[in-house]
Amino acid sequence: MAHIVIIGAGIGGMPAAYEMRERLDQSHRITVVSASDRFQFVPSNPWVAVGWRTPEQITLPIAPLLERKGIQFVARPVSAIDAEANRLTLAGGDTLDYDYLVITTGPRLAFEEVPGAGPVASGGGGHTHSVCSVDHAEAFWAEYQKFLEAPGPIVIGAMPGASCFGPAYEFAFIVDADLRKRKLRHKVPITFVTSEPYIGHLGLGGVGDSKSMLESELRGHDIKWITNAKTTRVEDGTLHTTQLSEFGEPVKEHELGFKLAMMLPAFKGVDPVAAVPGLCNPRGFVLIDEHQRSKKYRNIFSAGVCVAIPPVEATPVPTGAPKTGYMIETMVTAIVHNIAAELAGQPATAKGTWNAICLADMGDTGAAFVALPQIPPRNVNWFKKGKWVHLAKIAFEKYFLRKMRTGNSEPVYEKYVLKALGILRLAE
Ligand SMILES: Cc1cc2nc3c(=O)[nH]c(=O)nc-3n(C[C@H](O)[C@H](O)[C@H](O)COP(=O)(O)OP(=O)(O)OC[C@H]3O[C@@H](n4cnc5c(N)ncnc54)[C@H](O)[C@@H]3O)c2cc1C
Repeated sequence: MAHIVIIGAGIGGMPAAYEMRERLDQSHRITVVSASDRFQFVPSNPWVAVGWRTPEQITLPIAPLLERKGIQFVARPVSAIDAEANRLTLAGGDTLDYDYLVITTGPRLAFEEVPGAGPVASGGGGHTHSVCSVDHAEAFWAEYQKFLEAPGPIVIGAMPGASCFGPAYEFAFIVDADLRKRKLRHKVPITFVTSEPYIGHLGLGGVGDSKSMLESELRGHDIKWITNAKTTRVEDGTLHTTQLSEFGEPVKEHELGFKLAMMLPAFKGVDPVAAVPGLCNPRGFVLIDEHQRSKKYRNIFSAGVCVAIPPVEATPVPTGAPKTGYMIETMVTAIVHNIAAELAGQPATAKGTWNAICLADMGDTGAAFVALPQIPPRNVNWFKKGKWVHLAKIAFEKYFLRKMRTGNSEPVYEKYVLKALGILRLAE
């Protein structure tokens, strides 16, 4: 019987394991291999960075959750993939053979692309923070507490080549809300520096009224912005960025002084995945067909931030298209259906809808968008703001963590409520 190995236990990997276990006959073995022994709910990292959550509140130990469902778990990084021999090498040298491989390894944070970028905690010794991992969010929180004693300017945004813009906006508004609560906002000029061609582009060419609404929100919260920003280097306390015109020509050089900076980096694929011959594009993202299957290795499937998707449009400073949580879950469902079909001797025909739904917290209010499908023109294209989004985001965190604790990968809410809204995981 088949052995299915899933690399990664994040927003993509955990639901993949649960859904695969639910759908496949018990005779098939499922193993999850992850670099970390804790699941982290990445969307809550911005709250950890300002002390609104502790790491314990948004992480879960993986082993007991998976083992209870009869899924094996190995808490070790994969160091190499021999796709011809269907074999993984784990840190320490042990090997693991598979019949099917599902790659959900998320991003490698490419801080090295901008000299001086990245948190000291990442090993690079840089001068900007990140909220991409819970460790990075904790590092920001440690610095932020010192900063509150002697506040100064803050820079928040996204580096050239970034694809994940929602959390950058979210973080700017969360920091603003936190400082207002502390009555310190008047001492902290905030500048939002982004590689997007305009505010609210979000790597998606805009969604509904995202441009005018986010501009209005930034103005309303006294946050200045620089778009088309090609950040070139960071020194201790200074961020250097070249603002480009819509034709890609330099318009202005900015030297922004800061006491704290959080800049989301560009993403790449993780090294052992990127190193497999013919598996990935030059940035190390897995090349897949419409069924989430590797174009070269037919027993390898992939979902999440690690897959290659083309940018929605060319922009003066490079930007990528975001891969959001629900979109990732639709990819996972397609993979599970396809592997199950193959094991039953049927063709693998399932396709994820890749519907982009996102809730961005703004401290006491929030903004939500739905882009169906992700690439315009769209059937559904809306962007709305309100207190309900802040509450919905808290509910989403509780709901997803509960879903991971119970091992139920598509509970009633998704089956009926999202279906009623026309939001489905699989393309008809
Ligand atoms: C700060 C932030 C906030 C976000 N907020 C939202 C949001 O509100 N809503 C939304 O829809 N989306 C959000 N996203 C986008 C997306 O949902 C997340 O990035 C999500 O975590 C991606 O899931 P993933 O499974 O692809 O990767 P991850 O969740 O990052 O998981 C990757 C897994 O792979 C493992 N791994 C990596 N390398 C190896 C290796 N060599 N060997 C073994 N295991 C390995 C890791 O340990 C981890 O378990 C956010 C992203 C960020 C960065």
